[in-house]
Amino acid sequence: MEHRSGCADRRFAVIGGGVSGMAAAYQLRRAGAQVELIERDTVLGGRLGLDRLGDRPVTMGAQLIGEKYFGFREFLADLGVDSYERYSIALARTVGDKLIMVDPTRYHAVMRYLSSVGSAREVAKFAYLVGKVRGDGRFLGSRYFATLGARSDHKPLSEHFGPGLSTVVRPMIRWMNGAEPDEVYLGTFGTNLGWFVERFYRMPGGVQLAVDEFARRVTVRTDARVEGIVVRGGQVSGLAISENGWPTREYDYDGVILATSAHDAADLVKPEFPELSELLAQVRYFPGAVAMVEYDRELFGPGAYGFSVEDDSPCSLAVAEGRTDRHIGRYMFHGRRARPAPSDAEFERWLDEAEQRALDHYGGGPVHRVHTLRRSWQAGYCAYLPYYGDFLSALDTALSECPGLTLAGDYLRGGALEGCYRAGVEAARRACALSTGQPTDQLGKGSL
Ligand SMILES: Cc1cc2nc3c(=O)[nH]c(=O)nc-3n(C[C@H](O)[C@H](O)[C@H](O)COP(=O)(O)OP(=O)(O)OC[C@H]3O[C@@H](n4cnc5c(N)ncnc54)[C@H](O)[C@@H]3O)c2cc1C
Repeated sequence: MEHRSGCADRRFAVIGGGVSGMAAAYQLRRAGAQVELIERDTVLGGRLGLDRLGDRPVTMGAQLIGEKYFGFREFLADLGVDSYERYSIALARTVGDKLIMVDPTRYHAVMRYLSSVGSAREVAKFAYLVGKVRGDGRFLGSRYFATLGARSDHKPLSEHFGPGLSTVVRPMIRWMNGAEPDEVYLGTFGTNLGWFVERFYRMPGGVQLAVDEFARRVTVRTDARVEGIVVRGGQVSGLAISENGWPTREYDYDGVILATSAHDAADLVKPEFPELSELLAQVRYFPGAVAMVEYDRELFGPGAYGFSVEDDSPCSLAVAEGRTDRHIGRYMFHGRRARPAPSDAEFERWLDEAEQRALDHYGGGPVHRVHTLRRSWQAGYCAYLPYYGDFLSALDTALSECPGLTLAGDYLRGGALEGCYRAGVEAARRACALSTGQPTDQLGKGSL
């Protein structure tokens, strides 16, 4: 797996064991560098949300992998996981007593549906923007969407598209940003529109196997919380880490990659780099909650695996776990009605309501829960900011004042797993270049 490079004899720390951090650490390891990945949780994966439902390993967080997640899929294949199952979710809307289902990944069906609910102008604009994400437009930092944002982000997305189109736009924004269309902007809409040029898959065995294999290849310290960044002579030279609850100790590194949410990154860099911290703290995140229930019988019907709930319920999605797992339900809660993150009692009420709705929809008599898991993230989904191209440039400038430090995370290339993977790989390249004195402008624009 190793390709020795200029930074082969250097020692790096990657903070954060989510996809961004794992991608960065793996890339550095491949370059022959010494690397330690430090994760405060007892397990790796971050917002993949690895857990167990009874005996079954499950992914409470991200589980959908797009056909065009080329980098992330190659990474998984390298770790020995290469088996996928097609997955589809219908956007459902009740009109009178009729339930209309649209599969968002069938582009022509979506366009036909949109033409029936939106104006010709809106539909043409929507189709034009979808055309712009076939290349790199679905990643943050693309020139097209940065320019579009500079022109258009004085008003939110909801003011660019009317209520007809919200049937398709709103679920996407809730699923991908935990937000509502009046809380996001056209300049970052490319990250959502990627959905329309994708087909989605899940791994029937989950990503646990890949994560286990990763931990065999890369040095990982779990239950290890980074408490501070050590700066000597203006250069980041180490970390203060508290491991397994023990008192904090300092460790030396030639370079540090901070691969956490922007908010965790803001807290960590605040004492040493207040300007960078202030920028990072501006990025918007919204909560998300997920419940997974195994029942004593099949609950979800054939056809589309599940349906989105487009009314004012906190539950925005109720889906079966897979083609052969219709006795396991995944209920997702995001958007304005699912805020703030729920208390235990409230979560139970939300779940009861959502379950009843699934029962009403699919029918078939009472069901009993065999196993139940609930998970809630305070900062689950990144919703970015208006004028994001300017924000990324300001971040790049602030970061250039912090030698030895590199950033990765969902707020740089986008929250989709492929965006996080990309941000991680780019961070590794940059860290490697910085540690050997190579100018980072040779890494290509936008490589932070
Ligand atoms: C419910 C849900 C469903 C989703 N579904 C999908 C999907 O189907 N497909 C898709 O493409 N995307 C999906 N996403 C988005 C995707 O999961 C995230 O954008 C992505 O996992 C973020 O990865 P990350 O590595 O950047 O951050 P994280 O996964 O949050 O990893 C950051 C890690 O840093 C650790 N950390 C923070 N501070 C410290 C510290 N001081 N010391 C040590 N460790 C620290 C945290 O514990 C965490 O493990 C979903 C998100 C959610 C919440």
